[in-house]
Amino acid sequence: MQITQESSEHFKCLILGSGPAGYTAAIYAARADLNPVVYTGIVPGGQLTQTTDVDNFPGYPNGVQGTQMMEDLKQQAERFGTDVRFGYATKVDFSGPVHKVEIDKDKVVSADSIIIATGATAKYLGLSSEEKYMGFGVSACAVCDGFFYKGQDVAIVGGGDTAAEEATYLAKLCKTVHMLVRRDEFRASKAMVHRVLNTENIKIHYFTEAQEILGNEQGVNGVRVVNNQTKEETNLDITGFFVAIGHQPNTELFENILDMDDTGYLITKPNSTATNVPGVFASGDVQDNIYRQAITAAGTGCMAALEAERYLAAREDIS
Ligand code: NDP
Repeated sequence: MQITQESSEHFKCLILGSGPAGYTAAIYAARADLNPVVYTGIVPGGQLTQTTDVDNFPGYPNGVQGTQMMEDLKQQAERFGTDVRFGYATKVDFSGPVHKVEIDKDKVVSADSIIIATGATAKYLGLSSEEKYMGFGVSACAVCDGFFYKGQDVAIVGGGDTAAEEATYLAKLCKTVHMLVRRDEFRASKAMVHRVLNTENIKIHYFTEAQEILGNEQGVNGVRVVNNQTKEETNLDITGFFVAIGHQPNTELFENILDMDDTGYLITKPNSTATNVPGVFASGDVQDNIYRQAITAAGTGCMAALEAERYLAAREDIS
C-alpha cells in the first residue's frame, strides 16, 4: 500500500512494538548510535504486562512482576537514548528505499531500517470470568505460569499442539490436568496426542467446553464445564485455568507486503531476522510460533538490531 502523505520525521531505525523483542532491539540499536524510536503499540510493554510473576527470565533471582520487567526494559532502552513514544502503526509503505509508516492514522514517519516487534495476541474464550481472573488463576502460558500450580489441580482448554504440549508440561508439575477438548478428537499431531494419552494424570474431557470460571478474591477455585452433546454441566475443582486455543500474530498491517505463513506469522530468512523487504527485520513472537518466550523474543530483538546496524553500514547512500 502506498502512502502519499509526506513524512514529518525521519529515523535511522524505527521499532514497532514494546515487548521484550522491541525493547531489546532498542537497547542494542541505541548503543550502536542508531537513535532508535520505539512506537509502543496499543499495549505498551506487550503480553508480559498481562501476567503477574515472571520467574523464568534470567537475571531476576527472585522473579519479577511482568509490568515491572517491562518498565525495567523500557528504562534500560531510554538510558541509551531510545525515544519511546505511545502510538501504533496504522499503515506501512515499504515500496521505496525509505520505508514509510503511518502512526495513529495521523502522521507519517519514515525510516532507513525498521524492526517489527508487534508480537502476537493469545486467543481467549471471551468469558467475562476469564478476564476477571486474568493473572489470578487464568493464564495463556503454561510454561510461564505452570510453576505456581505445583501439586494442584488445573484445567487447560484446547486440542492443538500447543494445548497438548502445555498439558504434558503441566502434568509434570500438577496433580491433575483436566484437558477440555471441544470435539471428540484433537487437532494436534499424532505424536503429541500419543504423549497426552499416555500421561496418567491428564484427564481428557471430550465434547467439553468451559462455561464459567469460578473463584473468589483469592483467585480461581473451579470451572463450570458443559458437555456440548449431552448438555450436562459439571463443576471441576481447579486453581489454575490455562487457555491454549492458539495465538494471532499481529501482522494484519503487513498483509501482501511481507511474506507470512498460512497462519500469519512473518517469515524471516534462515538464521536471520531479515524479511523479504531489505531493511525490514522481524523479531519476537510476530515471527515465532514455536517458542514464544520472553527470552527468545529478546534474543531475536538483539539479532534484529545487529542486522539493522549491518544493513545501514552497508548502504552507501545513507550517511
Ligand atoms: P491450533 O489452531 O492448531 O489449535 C487450536 C485448538 O484450540 C484446536 O484444538 C481448537 O479446536 C481449539 N479451540 C479453538 N477455539 C476454541 C474455543 N473457542 N473453545 C475451545 N477450543 C477451541 O493452535 P495451536 O496454538 O495449538 O498451534 C498453532 C500452530 O503451532 C499449529 O500449526 C501447531 O502445529 C504449531 N505448534 C507446533 C508445536 C510443535 O511442533 N512442538 C507446538 C505448538 C504449536 P478445533 O480443533 O475444534 O478447532
